Amino acid sequence: MTFLRMNQIDLSGKRVLIREDLNVPIRNGVVENDTRIRAALPTIKLALSSGAKIILMSHLGRPKEGVAITEQAEFSLQAVADKLSDLLGCEVKLIQGYLENSDVINDDASVLLLENVRINIGEKANDDELAKHYASLCEVFVMDAFGTAHRAQASTHGVAKYADVACAGPLLASELDALERSLQNPERPMLAVVGGAKVSSKLEVLKNLSTKVDQLIVGGGIANTFLAANGVNVGRSLFEPDLVPLAAELMLQTSIPLPTDVVVAKEFSATAQASTKFVADIEDDDMILDIGPETATVFANLVSKMKTIIWNGPLGVFEFDQFANGTQTIARAIADNHGFSIAGGGETISAIDKFSVTQDISYISTGGGAFLEYVQGAVLPAVQILEDRASAEKTV
Ligand code: AMP
Repeated sequence: MTFLRMNQIDLSGKRVLIREDLNVPIRNGVVENDTRIRAALPTIKLALSSGAKIILMSHLGRPKEGVAITEQAEFSLQAVADKLSDLLGCEVKLIQGYLENSDVINDDASVLLLENVRINIGEKANDDELAKHYASLCEVFVMDAFGTAHRAQASTHGVAKYADVACAGPLLASELDALERSLQNPERPMLAVVGGAKVSSKLEVLKNLSTKVDQLIVGGGIANTFLAANGVNVGRSLFEPDLVPLAAELMLQTSIPLPTDVVVAKEFSATAQASTKFVADIEDDDMILDIGPETATVFANLVSKMKTIIWNGPLGVFEFDQFANGTQTIARAIADNHGFSIAGGGETISAIDKFSVTQDISYISTGGGAFLEYVQGAVLPAVQILEDRASAEKTV
């Protein structure tokens, strides 16, 4: 991968706009989990020590575009600015109104953080005017947010088109380097474990992965659609009827073992009564919330035979302990595997934390959607634009 890297540029005295992924959980104005903020610290510190004037930008959640932050204060990055100030030991000032008045960035604080980019009209549509405005705020644009690199938006892609200089930050670059190293020439057999709730988004990914891996394990809501394709009554479980034909097609193409037993409940809640059943015994009012113990053992055995494992998505509702066994068993099996294992995605990282297997997974990626798109071989638009610029500048 050829793109300009932040450490190849003299940042001294320059105004540097860094796109980070500071999308963290916030409750009552306090950051609940600062993993993503901490991940960005080395980049920010490096730029600070190079004498740059730093402007950070990020999204937070899914606010309404064009609605003032005062009307949707829960999406403000103020808590992130506060946390960053603590962690960096210097003032990090939250900047609002930067679209109306660019002068607000002439503030003395050594680090500025632009208010949530997703309230800006045109952010999601990658609007050129908005992208040009972001670019006008800086001399160097640094894309460092791997988690949003798969989205062509004004703050990830458009701005990189128009900034005087656009480069990859160290966090993004190290993530891409690791992914490239591990997936270019994977040792076989290779397995992908894909679970989670987002059936529709991940089926496309499954389609692509099924052509690359030797074996595919599906779990969570995704497995329900496959079970339905196999004629199993999934009761009230989460599944997407429209995608049943695609699931059936994939099972013809690729080896996809399906659960033989499941853990079900009558309601989706932390206190729901769990019961284990064979799939043939699922009742109309049952919801499948985990794979059963027999299935977990079969899947774990399969995992143990693999040389390369890609994992995204829990195999059940692991947040509730009575439905966590499937995800825990597979997480342990992946951790015990001596081949190369790579895992990514928000919920997957939470599961890895919960089951304390972080140390035993070869590489943990911070990006959910971006990780999966990379793994399936898709071009990440925010990386592509950096590559395009690097090759255009080389030929000048
Ligand atoms: P994703 O972000 O698509 O990886 O989805 C992760 C979420 O899927 C987790 O919060 C799980 O609780 C949820 N999940 C896993 N299995 C199931 C299931 N069988 N039914 C409903 N939700 C599930």
